[in-house]
Amino acid sequence: MLPEQSIQKIINTALRNGGDLAEVYLEDTDRLTLVLDDQKLETATRGSDIGGGVRVFYGQTAAYAYTDDLSEEALLAAAEAAAAAARSTNQARVAVDLTRRIPSVTHPIKRPFDQMSIAEKAALLRQIDQTGRATSSLISQLMTSYTQTSRRVWIYNSDGVWAEDERFMLELRASLVAKRGDALQTITTGLGGQTGLEMLDERDPLTAVKEAAETAVHMLDAKPAPAGEMTVVINNGWGGVLFHEACGHCMEADFITSGASAYAGMVGERVGPDFLTAIDDGTIPNRRGSLRFDDEGTPAQKVTLIENGILKEYMWDLTEARRLGRESTGNGRRQSFRHMPMPRMTNTYIDAGPHDPEEIIRSTKKGLFAKRLGGGQVEIGRGDYVFAVTEGYLIEDGRLTTPVRGATLVGNGPETLRQIDMIGSDLALDPGIGMCGKGQSARVSVGQPTVRVPKLTVGGTDQPISGLMGG
Ligand SMILES: [Zn+2]
Repeated sequence: MLPEQSIQKIINTALRNGGDLAEVYLEDTDRLTLVLDDQKLETATRGSDIGGGVRVFYGQTAAYAYTDDLSEEALLAAAEAAAAAARSTNQARVAVDLTRRIPSVTHPIKRPFDQMSIAEKAALLRQIDQTGRATSSLISQLMTSYTQTSRRVWIYNSDGVWAEDERFMLELRASLVAKRGDALQTITTGLGGQTGLEMLDERDPLTAVKEAAETAVHMLDAKPAPAGEMTVVINNGWGGVLFHEACGHCMEADFITSGASAYAGMVGERVGPDFLTAIDDGTIPNRRGSLRFDDEGTPAQKVTLIENGILKEYMWDLTEARRLGRESTGNGRRQSFRHMPMPRMTNTYIDAGPHDPEEIIRSTKKGLFAKRLGGGQVEIGRGDYVFAVTEGYLIEDGRLTTPVRGATLVGNGPETLRQIDMIGSDLALDPGIGMCGKGQSARVSVGQPTVRVPKLTVGGTDQPISGLMGG
């Protein structure tokens, strides 16, 4: 990247009208996407995106200017533009002592992306496609995709921060439709993480697509879901998307400082049962939401949000942390150099609880088991949600019985959290293809053990719900 003297010059230029803190963010992204739709290779696109931005904080606000030209001249122009907005009375600083931060976590890659040719990657998609179609003649549509992303980021600021991160993301996705007469069932599955091609050796995409195809066919026989208030047991793993969307966003500091969140001012208060602990952990090796440093150069951290039912901490970026004169928790993330960072989740999960997952079902007289959640709509920050259950089963006398379709879960996140009466010991994280939307998109991971909510509203409508988060 640019020599240290250039960075110094850009930072000094950014601070020339005063300003409290100046930051330089540089990014270099390379992406390859292959899409196989209806057995034809639709697209094979390779693209790179390079750019950087300069941000100047002054008081409670910040100005940001970005460019897709990483020359010193272009970044100096961006620094001028950001500085123009500064109205601070601070003295301009002349020298910044940049100290390179050494990451305390790593996400090592064993097999770089170039160890397979594009033709071999396309052949893998064909194999996934054929495996899905061979599962049943009722599979009427199948689309698969392969995406690899390599992104390097460099972050410098006038507090002396110099941090670099390198993120290799691999993602395989399959979306299929089972059809019989008028009955249709769509299921999306996939595998992903911050990993190289070794993921393909460690996890089997063929098994995943076969299971998805079998489930879609199986669900064609499902009965319409009952509606009303009932006990709902939510499956482990991807089921954690409900916590992420309906509770996690309420713990992002921007919703807290603006007062928009139900959790504002609630640190130290009880927000769930005493066996509930929830965590946002950006340090888990090779997970989709993991980082070495966030997009503001703060080291990734494990943040305990809720411990034994008590709200402990929110998720902070620099902007919100500076408002309160505290430290960031390493949750400052941005979609790209074209965006200002904001508080975002990384890998967010409800921790393992005390209950035997089989006992959770066994002890439920009557209810719904939400095995696979689909898309959801959430008023993030407030936590009102509607989630589709793509694979659901009735629970009758402690056993899973009839598959049901069209169920939706309707509620308010913080309220649902308070109601939880059992949490299993079977913590699992999701398969690693989750995308979070909050104005900007961010790759995240979610997880949870089996969780029971004694009373939740189940809507029986069959309306499609457009997702904030794909899965
Ligand atoms: Zn989200």
